[in-house]
Amino acid sequence: MKKQTQAIHSRFQTKDAYGSLAMPVYHTAAYEFDNATEMADAFCGKTDAPDYSRVTNPTVTYFENKVKAMCNAHGVIAVSSGMAAISNTLICLTAAGKNIVTSRHLFGNTYSLIAGTMMRFGVKPHLTDLTNLKEVENAIDNDTACIFMEIITNPQMEVADIAALAEIAHKKGIPLVADTTMIPFTQFDAHSLGVDIEVVSSTKYLSGGATSIGGLVIDYGTTPNFTDRMRKELLMNLGAYMTPHVAYMQNLGLETLDARYRVQADNALRVAQALKDVEQIKRVNYIGLEDNPFYELSRRQFGKTSGAMLTIDLDSQEACFDFINRLQVVRRATNLFDNKTLAIHPASTIFGNFTPRQRQKMDVLDTTIRLSIGLEDAEDIIEDIVRSVEG
Ligand SMILES: *Cc1c(COP(=O)(O)O)cnc(C)c1O
Repeated sequence: MKKQTQAIHSRFQTKDAYGSLAMPVYHTAAYEFDNATEMADAFCGKTDAPDYSRVTNPTVTYFENKVKAMCNAHGVIAVSSGMAAISNTLICLTAAGKNIVTSRHLFGNTYSLIAGTMMRFGVKPHLTDLTNLKEVENAIDNDTACIFMEIITNPQMEVADIAALAEIAHKKGIPLVADTTMIPFTQFDAHSLGVDIEVVSSTKYLSGGATSIGGLVIDYGTTPNFTDRMRKELLMNLGAYMTPHVAYMQNLGLETLDARYRVQADNALRVAQALKDVEQIKRVNYIGLEDNPFYELSRRQFGKTSGAMLTIDLDSQEACFDFINRLQVVRRATNLFDNKTLAIHPASTIFGNFTPRQRQKMDVLDTTIRLSIGLEDAEDIIEDIVRSVEG
């Protein structure tokens, strides 16, 4: 079956007692066993029978199995947020004395996790420019645990060469971990480009309508014992497993993910093209525009679509605030890939607690507005933005 058919028709692990067509929400913490042997076997991992919902739950397992089939992965683990996916993965791969080679351009909390929290436990950040392969190679030493990248950085909209980074990582015998939140796995095959472990904030495109917070760790089986260790050690000890209710909602989102995404990506391209000619907009940064420096690479890596996030630059922070305050259709909120188009000023919000000097190093500008394009009629989005820019 093709990905989209699997998204709709993946079968339950066992037949439901009532023949339910939708996966029921197994809202339970624990499971009863018929006898002591079955109980011992389940707890020791000799059978797949669930024992406790911090570690396994039928509704969550169904969601995980569906993603696993769609991605042709070795193992998939659903967790409580995108940050849980990233932190559990990095904790699994590192130890005190190790380092992570990554970019200065990272999602705010990922930056603060790698350059702050993990540092306190003796894991060092090696911050580099992932678009500069020489610099990446030089940043790797014998203690490097992995390369961590985001496929499209936010809000800089930078795209690194995934296959080239994978080649460098594999030459050094370390995995390439990619945060692929920006383009859904229905659209591009990260593993074929050399990604070993994919992490996704399923809060974004996948949830559909921003119903819930969630994360996915997708393991392609190229990192010895990774999924095994995640399940037997990290899920149990850190306790970040997804809840059944969230898995239920995100499974519904997954069924319509690709259909929604294609409309949003198409809308984003139309918005970007329309905004290019607006006098007050100094720059439109969207990798789907042919004159974008990452256009060719993006086509090669991601295929025909370029995501639904773009940024525009205005004259000043004041102009950005005025613009945001005038919006009537577009909503003022931080999420990405909601069904609704959203606008935010990253420098004063997501990156508001960093110093101006840190923001400068991360190339987060005071003049940038981030737009996440939704499922409305593109003409209404364009009209609202143009009217709000023109004042
Ligand atoms: C939102 C986001 C995260 C964090 O995900 P949460 O679900 O909010 O924890 C990580 N990486 C990227 C690229 C994101 O956009």
